Amino acid sequence: MFCYQCEQAAKGTGCDAIGVCGKQPEVADMQDLLVYALRGLAQYALEARKKGIVDKEVDVFTSRALFSTLTNVNFDKDNLAEWVRKTVALRDACKEKLGVTLDGPAAFVPGATMDEMLVQAAEVGLKSDPDVNPDILSLQHILLFGLKGVAAYMDHAEILGQSDPEAYAFLYEALTAPLNKDLGLDEWVGLVLKCGEVNLRAMELLDAGNTGTYGHPVPTPVPLGVKAGKAILVSGHDLKDLEAILKQTEGKGITVYTHGEMLPCHGYPELKKYGHFYGHYGTAWQNQKKEFAAFPGAILMTTNCIQKPKEEYEGAIFTSGVVEWPGVQHISDGDFTPVIEKALALPGFAEDAPGKEVLVGFGRNAVLGVADKVIEAVKGKALRHFFLVAGCDGAKPGRNYYTEFVEKVPSDCVVLTLACGKFRFFDKELGDIGGIPRLLDVGQCNDAYSAIQIAVALANAFECGVNDLPLSMILSWYEQKAVSILLTLLFLGIKDIRLGPTLPAFITPNVLDVLVKNFNIMPISTPDEDLKAILG
Ligand code: SF4
Ligand code: SF4
Repeated sequence: MFCYQCEQAAKGTGCDAIGVCGKQPEVADMQDLLVYALRGLAQYALEARKKGIVDKEVDVFTSRALFSTLTNVNFDKDNLAEWVRKTVALRDACKEKLGVTLDGPAAFVPGATMDEMLVQAAEVGLKSDPDVNPDILSLQHILLFGLKGVAAYMDHAEILGQSDPEAYAFLYEALTAPLNKDLGLDEWVGLVLKCGEVNLRAMELLDAGNTGTYGHPVPTPVPLGVKAGKAILVSGHDLKDLEAILKQTEGKGITVYTHGEMLPCHGYPELKKYGHFYGHYGTAWQNQKKEFAAFPGAILMTTNCIQKPKEEYEGAIFTSGVVEWPGVQHISDGDFTPVIEKALALPGFAEDAPGKEVLVGFGRNAVLGVADKVIEAVKGKALRHFFLVAGCDGAKPGRNYYTEFVEKVPSDCVVLTLACGKFRFFDKELGDIGGIPRLLDVGQCNDAYSAIQIAVALANAFECGVNDLPLSMILSWYEQKAVSILLTLLFLGIKDIRLGPTLPAFITPNVLDVLVKNFNIMPISTPDEDLKAILG
């Protein structure tokens, strides 16, 4: 195995024996083989599009399959091998319909056994072609990892009835690009930025899916305490699964809590209306082993990010969507009866334990609803600067930077946040500026579109570009959705982004140089130094 797609890459270079995330070598290999098989399917999908044929089944399948190779999503080698076989079956169906025969990955025949497939995987891994120029390889991998993020957003959007055939077409263009050995550095940079553009579209579709189905989030206080009684904890990012749980538990005496990235769901009118949808339990994904072990009910992990379940809660955790863990019961049909039955069988909370409250629901609609107040505060100099402190959380100690940074932001500045990195500071009481809370939770990582719309609307109001706003982006990355968001920001020409806790292992010094020269992207340093550099 060789994998360096996330920020946890071993020794800052890559995992080559076992994943720091817990990924076994066979799982990493099956993911490589799946990507290879998808390149073959993409060859036929592109050929079909040339003939005006758009196959929705192939579109949806491709984004789901790519999503299943994201960090902390699917740890089941047999299930991934099944994805490989399904890819090839779908590809062969396309081939038959088109009546053409293509070569390369399009002619790949998976081995009959896991051992044979593992041998094949070793030939198509990330670093299996020593002849590719390292900078081109770096750009190819930025594209691949960004594409996985795009696929995740497209899958979420598709679940809520939103899609765009053009965005799907880009998946095929990008998957087949490495087969063209004539592409030079400029073309690869162009593809990487196009990935950012398509991701913007995918996030727009997801935003339309979320807000169209559940309404625009509204500011909502969320209890961090618990109520006596039976309980279900829903983690991950899938709003539809959460809604299904809420519907199916109505009147059953079960209280539903959110975990991790589900926190912002409390702000959606069509979700918050359920009386038994109570509060938030725990923090970010990397703390789940401790937090799930202490939860006395059933747990549902939707989408990402799952870790190896501990013995204490092995029988109480379920997965849905593309998440799979060997031995963990997977719900694939939207019927959460096993989760509900497990919650009823478990003790639940013995007594009420009140806790703090946090405010969520500051999506673009809520923030722009008070745009006049915000503009007035900026013009009157009561509000000096906005900081978007956003992105993933993770286990590395250097991530304390983000807590300290928010603590040190001066009292005349506002912090916008999204994604699970917020759990480093989400319960801090930062007060307000003339009624505008100083800590605004824009939502999940899936809501990055909302933050972009807020920035664009402010730039329009101040008649300037986003780069000229009193706004700085302090981002943390961990997995591939963050890569796709970063590419979107670069596509939009956003400059001076500070990125941490470490830079991706898959970016070579020359590629970094291009990013620095064109976008002045820089690593985080210390909160004091960065604040001084930004505010003077
Ligand atoms: S996903 Fe991250 S931690 Fe897991 S194997 Fe890949 S680089 Fe390592
Ligand atoms: S922000 Fe990223 S790391 Fe955090 S839970 Fe969402 S997908 Fe996982």
